[in-house]
Amino acid sequence: MALIVQKYGGTSVGSVERIEAVAEKIAKFRDRGDDVVIVVSAMSGETNRLTAMALEMMEQPTPREMDVLLSTGEQVTIALLCMALEKRGYGARSFTGGQVRILTDEAHTKARIREIDSTRIMAQLDQQNIVVVAGFQGVNENGCITTLGRGGSDTTAVALAAALDADECQIYTDVKGVYTTDPRVVEDAHLLSSITFEEMLELASLGAKVLQIRSVEFAGKYKVPLRVLSTFEEGPGTLISLEEDTAMEDPSIAGIAFERDEAKLTVTGVPDVPGIAYNVIGPVSDAGIEVDVIVQNVAADGTNDITFTVKCAEGDRTKAILDSVSNSLEAREVILDKKICKVSLVGVGMRSHAGIASKMFKALAEENINIQIITTSEIKISVVIEEKYLELAVRALHSAFELGDPDAENSIN
Ligand code: ADP
Ligand code: ASP
Ligand code: MG
Repeated sequence: MALIVQKYGGTSVGSVERIEAVAEKIAKFRDRGDDVVIVVSAMSGETNRLTAMALEMMEQPTPREMDVLLSTGEQVTIALLCMALEKRGYGARSFTGGQVRILTDEAHTKARIREIDSTRIMAQLDQQNIVVVAGFQGVNENGCITTLGRGGSDTTAVALAAALDADECQIYTDVKGVYTTDPRVVEDAHLLSSITFEEMLELASLGAKVLQIRSVEFAGKYKVPLRVLSTFEEGPGTLISLEEDTAMEDPSIAGIAFERDEAKLTVTGVPDVPGIAYNVIGPVSDAGIEVDVIVQNVAADGTNDITFTVKCAEGDRTKAILDSVSNSLEAREVILDKKICKVSLVGVGMRSHAGIASKMFKALAEENINIQIITTSEIKISVVIEEKYLELAVRALHSAFELGDPDAENSIN
């Protein structure tokens, strides 16, 4: 008998019929004698619908009320799923994040889990009940509802698996597992039977939304066996492997991630003097805006251009901050470009394979795609390019590095 934590994402619970199908699936595990703790997302589209209503109500909704609103999506699903299980004769109990006591920090809309009290869940399991927990939400020290950021139900599941010392955490979603890239963009994307934890962490942080990055961090920190699988089709899915050396024989590239949601800011003509980068980036980070890629070019005339990226939604606010300091910076111009994207190659094998960067740049050049910014680390190379070339770039790189699977049947739900 095993203790399994399963998470079902938005598409998997997207209608009453789909919730019924999920209940059937859970019942099979229960019949086998396993203890099961289920985490569910809101029904697909619901978190977006709630967000749109809030934005209709006010331009910048207060984060506290945003969390109260967004957490309702998951509450609907836990109740409906328990009903579906009860209807089938199974004992099931639903819990919100606050009821379990998933304690988070104070950071509304992007809270981090601090502690989980497993007593209540354990007591229900002892009574042979299936426990269904609302993903994406917790409660802070003051008893206020918090949410964990988009995709946060993944993190709820892995954190619960860690707290309960579960035998496995299974993330059920609308594709068969983790692929070499998003199978919605590249038809012959290859389903990976396993991927190293380090590579998954990098892919998630560079935009592959199949797992929220914090869920991968939790899995690594607490050594949670983590698997991504399809809700709709049987199959082994993808194991996130904690073994260090599984990549020895692997090809140099594990996958390609991309991020559409970035904006680029350039401050031109600032003097090339010590402290200038700090004077540009400082006011932006003081405003709580996360800065991603940063580059600085020195021109022959002794001036600098400083370019960096932020989340698209922060683009206008960042530009306003820079405009307000541009005089004191002696900047020539502040330019905001929202039509960019970032494409990244990821692989632990890059460490030992030379020539990856030049092969990447050649593939992009052959498609006439101009690279605006390049950043590298030991196991990734990212380029910022014009947004309209995103699909073309991902496909070109996927084929240049021969990542495709000729037999791919990527059924997408
Ligand atoms: P859920 O609602 O189940 O949490 P998400 O939409 O958050 O599902 O994540 C699954 C989606 O992630 C897939 O439908 C796919 O389009 C996307 N995705 C992006 N990159 C990858 C990848 N490398 N492998 C698999 N899926 C990916
Ligand atoms: N419902 C939340 C979202 O859409 C959390 C999740 O599904 O993981 O982001
Ligand atoms: Mg998700």
